Amino acid sequence: MTATAQAVEPVPPLLAVDGLTLQLRRRRDSVALVDGVSFTVAPGEAVGLVGESGCGKSVTALAAIGLLPRDKIRASAGAIRFEDADLLRLDDRAARQETVARMLESVGLAAGEAAKFPHQFSGGQRQRLAIARAAILDPALIIADEPVSALDVSIRSQVLNLLADLRRDRRMALILIAHDLAVVGHVCDRIAVMYLGRIVEEGPSDDLLTAPAHPYTRALVGSVYHLKGGATAPQRVLEGDPPDPSAPPPGCPFHPRCPAAMDRCRAELPALVARQTENGPRRTACHLHPPAVADDRAA
Ligand code: SF4
Repeated sequence: MTATAQAVEPVPPLLAVDGLTLQLRRRRDSVALVDGVSFTVAPGEAVGLVGESGCGKSVTALAAIGLLPRDKIRASAGAIRFEDADLLRLDDRAARQETVARMLESVGLAAGEAAKFPHQFSGGQRQRLAIARAAILDPALIIADEPVSALDVSIRSQVLNLLADLRRDRRMALILIAHDLAVVGHVCDRIAVMYLGRIVEEGPSDDLLTAPAHPYTRALVGSVYHLKGGATAPQRVLEGDPPDPSAPPPGCPFHPRCPAAMDRCRAELPALVARQTENGPRRTACHLHPPAVADDRAA
């Protein structure tokens, strides 16, 4: 039998600890906790590190995951590579502080305020901090659920402008959940209006707010207080309460409150249908707006 020698490609280690020496800092001197330790771990491999208490295995493990308390323990020699990163050379604490300072400044707070306790911030500042905390990881999408409903009107616009700025500067997508149409219209490109668990209308914000097609959207838009031109009262008041979701009315769920309800509305659930308006696409679920193109998502 002849054997053909095959070249085996060496697998680069996942973790390589090389000559690691760790010193415990003391007031006058230092003590070696780990002295010239070297080992590797391959991808998928299980490696045991055993020994009595105090032998240095735990502190080696801490160093291997980059969690050494650097104010107490110093790596005086060696290297730890995890994939491509040199864990001993990562200046994570300095980098973290810089990132926090930058983020605080980008939400309108001073970098020095990082040291404050939560009770030392106002409601508006706490909301800014909540936004900073969400944005610091540079997410592609933020979901903000009623971010300004608990704030004074004077603070609301500041926080909304902040959200809009972050969106623009960091190219973040945003889902903003709010019951206040003015708030949503101020920040969002597109609005979806829900009633009893369904989207009943969706379209570009400006178009939907200036020309609402669904009677429910019209009622919501009409119930916003208009301060321009001296009018201070809502134009239209939506009467009645939303139905019990466990026993929805037959047909269109909005028909008991809809001023335009017809016989058909009491029997037939309207589909969410798409059409094109001057300002962009609109979807509406109402028999007043018969389908041009049926949309399955209404099902
Ligand atoms: Fe009103 Fe009928 Fe339209 Fe429902 S389908 S919103 S009840 S007009």
